[in-house]
Amino acid sequence: MYDFSQFEKDLLFFNIKLDDEKKNRLASFYDLLKEWNSYMNLTAITEWDDVLKKHFLDSLSIVRAVKEIRSSKWNVIDVGTGAGFPGIPLKIVFPELRLTLLDSLQKRILFLNTVIDKLDLKDVRTVHGRAEDLARNSQMRECYDVCVSRAVANLATLSELCLPFVRKEGVFVSYKTEKNGQEAENAARAIQLLGGNLESRCAFLLPNSDLSRMLFVIRKIMKTPEKYPRKAGIPGRQPL
Ligand code: SAM
Repeated sequence: MYDFSQFEKDLLFFNIKLDDEKKNRLASFYDLLKEWNSYMNLTAITEWDDVLKKHFLDSLSIVRAVKEIRSSKWNVIDVGTGAGFPGIPLKIVFPELRLTLLDSLQKRILFLNTVIDKLDLKDVRTVHGRAEDLARNSQMRECYDVCVSRAVANLATLSELCLPFVRKEGVFVSYKTEKNGQEAENAARAIQLLGGNLESRCAFLLPNSDLSRMLFVIRKIMKTPEKYPRKAGIPGRQPL
């Protein structure tokens, strides 16, 4: 049985300790997720134990690749956040972050607005729309220190959706698993065209599990050319 105390032990693997406020917020987030999931499709993972490990622990595992995130006031955007992963757990546990949650599905944005309100999270905003369109908005393009994204698209497509949001010297972190290792080779050209450089790939198992994880860290070394991202849908259909 995987319970909260085991979750806290596993978090120590990432050098993360939770105070009562953070624990309560994670539990309230779970309650809302479970409630809303009963009348809309938010996530296939709903059992407490699974959510703790496969959503919360997984979201927080970014500290393996980008240690500074734990104590920074970075401007972070989560592209294709869905029910708020990895963005919401990151904000709860690292409350200094300034967070933008972006998704193309309005009903998920509605859920996230409720979470933000009920958990009284500060400096979090939601944006409804396609990443391809929103990356053309001057208030969002090249404005973020970090872009994160999990389970949205292959790395080549995702680089076109995400890198335009990242400021020069900032990073895009893609949450993948070991079996996506090959995606880096297929995305090499796209990453370069978009102004990025694959700085590292961080592979590990989630603690006490056989769940393999791979975080790709892509540094923005040059501005993204104006022509990217291409029109909505094209990055998915014809990856660079
Ligand atoms: N990141 C979450 C997670 O790991 O649980 C959600 C993953 S879900 C499989 C993919 C999400 O990406 C969906 O909520 C979908 O609406 C969103 N999405 C897909 N393509 C998008 C795009 N081009 N722009 C914005 N959101 C997109």
